Amino acid sequence: MKKNTIKSGKINVQTENIFPIIKKFLYSDHEIFLRELVSNAVDASQKLRVLSANGEYKGELGDLKVEVILDRDAKTITIRDNGIGMSAEEIDKYINQIAFSGAEEFVEKYKGKEGAEQIIGHFGLGFYSGFMVSEKVQIRSKSRHEGEKAIQWESNGSPDYTIIEIDKTTQGTDIVLYISEESNEFLEKERISGILTKYCKFLPIPVFFGDKTEYIDSPEGEKDDKGNIKRVAIEVPNQINNPSPAWTKAPVDLKDEDYSSFYSELYPSTFDKPLFHIHLNVDYPFNLTGILYFPKIKENVEVQRNKINLYSNQVFITDSVAEIVPEFLTLLHGVIDSPDIPLNVSRSYLQSDGNVKKIASHITKKVADKLADMFKKDRKDFEDKWNDLQIFVQYGMLSDEKFAEKAAGFSLLKNTDGLYFTPEEYKEKIAALQVDKDKKTICLYTNNPEEQFSFVKKAKERAYDVLHLEGPLVSHWIQKLEQSMENTSFVRVDSDTLDKLIRKTDELPSKISKEEEEKLKPVFEECLNKEKYTVQFESMSESDSPMIITQPEFIRRMMEQQKLGGGGMFGAFPEMFTLVVNANHPKIAQLLTKKAKDQKASVKQLTDLALLAQGMLKGEALDSFIERNIEHIA
Ligand code: ADP
Repeated sequence: MKKNTIKSGKINVQTENIFPIIKKFLYSDHEIFLRELVSNAVDASQKLRVLSANGEYKGELGDLKVEVILDRDAKTITIRDNGIGMSAEEIDKYINQIAFSGAEEFVEKYKGKEGAEQIIGHFGLGFYSGFMVSEKVQIRSKSRHEGEKAIQWESNGSPDYTIIEIDKTTQGTDIVLYISEESNEFLEKERISGILTKYCKFLPIPVFFGDKTEYIDSPEGEKDDKGNIKRVAIEVPNQINNPSPAWTKAPVDLKDEDYSSFYSELYPSTFDKPLFHIHLNVDYPFNLTGILYFPKIKENVEVQRNKINLYSNQVFITDSVAEIVPEFLTLLHGVIDSPDIPLNVSRSYLQSDGNVKKIASHITKKVADKLADMFKKDRKDFEDKWNDLQIFVQYGMLSDEKFAEKAAGFSLLKNTDGLYFTPEEYKEKIAALQVDKDKKTICLYTNNPEEQFSFVKKAKERAYDVLHLEGPLVSHWIQKLEQSMENTSFVRVDSDTLDKLIRKTDELPSKISKEEEEKLKPVFEECLNKEKYTVQFESMSESDSPMIITQPEFIRRMMEQQKLGGGGMFGAFPEMFTLVVNANHPKIAQLLTKKAKDQKASVKQLTDLALLAQGMLKGEALDSFIERNIEHIA
């Protein structure tokens, strides 16, 4: 049957041929045509639902759905909806005029500019993105208005189009893309399925693509040998989306299981369970919903970044959220959905956007509140999670002042007895003993109780408390704590002698004279690498070790911070240690009475033991130490 051409004409556009320009601009991101067209179809369905709800549409709603149909023989992709449809007049208005003027504006503004692919949609270009992959596009639509004829609009990408009447009887729209030769990758089922999963996984109207096999009880009631109903395979339409993902629901309607199953839905290939979640729900001054999960943070932090997915009304936009959430929060996983984030503009603009800034600080506040709340409600549970949380909290405190203020109330210090304290509680705990003669509170810590065992033991013998602080951010973090906890410093337990770390009085009198020290010093120096070690005599108490090796807190911190990539202003640091000789130890006084040869042997033994205590006696030196000691066994 010959169709009546009811209209043909030129699309309302000055630029003679807009499509080559669009194609070129959007080159890197061709696949988004499907996101745009499927979301248009979803919009059309939702609009019908709204019209029906307020009585403007009287017909049957039916099962609203979107189908994506791939026909490899005809080389077409059809996006089908049973939504509001368009009349010839509406096509003229929305497709010929508005959309094209949007396209023109786009081209004028962004000619040759980078990042133009993000602008699509903003200018009502969504529909035209179909031309990036097609040599011809048809809209076949039957509008919701009674008695309106079904029509077909067609264009090959030049500004010319035709509209004809067709026989379509079902309400809604088919967008038919005749895929061009150079875009035939989109005729692959897997490719389409991949794109749909990426962008359309949580669209609010069911989206179907192809069929899938399902097993059901035999409808005829057939039985197997054992008398059980047979299971039979059937082909059912393959729905690719979950139209009501957890974040769109009210928190009261969700249980913990729902949150964890949604996590698996988001990251099907991750087996780790998140520690806990935060459900975001804001409607003023901007609209934002979402669920953020705290993952177990592993050694390799970078791999875990950028797992927050950004959606706009359930349409996936991007997983690069660096501009929207503060950096330390990029360690979180989950979803943020906001129609208010200007997604279609450039990144530098995003950073300066007021809304985006508000969103970032709102999320930070929510996260801090949640942590504070957990700490208050169940401190024991919070302490159990601290090991996994600490990097995150420390990172947050270091990078965000507001967060640091809030975190002061729930950041924790763990001691070597496994007890936890807030900084304030801790300061109070050690106030009686660990205060030096200048009234400064001294927190002792170890980062490895095993390796620094003898130092920890000596400190505890004096009834001092020792913290166990371990992790890549510790040296930066304690610096931050020193600023916020007044008149307090943190020193690693092996960074000096205890007398010096917490100096109670002026120095004890020395049992050996300056001349005797000068005589002994070269003997010690001979036993050690002079470039690395400085020998220093100190009058400590008799009960202290005869000798210890220390590394100044300042130097070690600098080195640790440098390793992490910060504080590199001093260039590479050489490793430096101090061999502290306890001038009051009886073994040192004894040395003075010995003959040169015996004196040297004793000093060698003492320095080796000091190195051994720090795990620094290695290789050949360790071997000869062992050999020598075996010989001495009676
Ligand atoms: P935008 O969606 O940003 O408005 P588009 O170019 O994607 O811009 O679409 C232009 C207009 O065409 C839409 O606003 C809508 O009115 C109409 N439209 C597009 N696709 C459909 C559809 N499947 N059903 C009904 N109307 C549609």
